[in-house]
Amino acid sequence: MKRGNWKIRIFIGLAIVAFAFIKKCSNTEENPYTGREQHITMTSDQEIAIGLQSAPGMAQQHGGLYPDEKLQAFVKKVGNRLVNNSIAKDTPYQYDFHLLADDQTINAFALPGGQCFITYALFSQLNEAQLAGVMGHEIGHVIGRHSAERIADSQTWQTATMGATVGAGDMGSIVGSIGQNTLLKNGRNDELESDELGVLFMIKAGYDPYEMIRVMEILKAAGGPNRVPEFQSTHPDPANRIEKIKAAIEKYQE
Ligand SMILES: [Zn+2]
Repeated sequence: MKRGNWKIRIFIGLAIVAFAFIKKCSNTEENPYTGREQHITMTSDQEIAIGLQSAPGMAQQHGGLYPDEKLQAFVKKVGNRLVNNSIAKDTPYQYDFHLLADDQTINAFALPGGQCFITYALFSQLNEAQLAGVMGHEIGHVIGRHSAERIADSQTWQTATMGATVGAGDMGSIVGSIGQNTLLKNGRNDELESDELGVLFMIKAGYDPYEMIRVMEILKAAGGPNRVPEFQSTHPDPANRIEKIKAAIEKYQE
């Protein structure tokens, strides 16, 4: 670029950064189920569509569905009991609960829009109330719209990084690193919010919420270097997490 163009470059750069943040603010809405202000750029119908589209591929990565109709039905029964006794049933989401054949990877996860999964490796270590804890946590991710929020944030940071890169060379990487940290921080908060919602759903459905603490202990014991369950993937401090679960139980239990 020619000398003297730097003013224009910085102006364009700042304009793009400003645009990213104005767009972010205009897309801020209150989650009607959690009461939390969040930045979302997609509708719940789009979340459901993304979830349904990605579900077969995700299942395939874990060896497909576990080939036992009785166990599949049991997982669905527990999941639906949580949905039908909580605010989850008032949401537009299409919940479904799947048992994956994978007997090596301790894992559970939710796709946007309501598709929830647990691997056989994790399932086989849990009693019914603990399964409810895991599934309640996953429903928490759906209702908390965490995937949609993460996607919207990465869009904001992509735009902002682009603006900063146009403005000045080094700023791009600085803004980029802030973006990543922001995403990780959100991840931790997502886990804590899902834990709290999971506890609430357990209580509403008549499960002993203290079993959620036992789930954390089981996950902690199972977690090795090659086993990073979704529950531990963003590493909220386990002790801190159990403290927060205890606080949630006290908050919601009458
Ligand atoms: Zn989680």
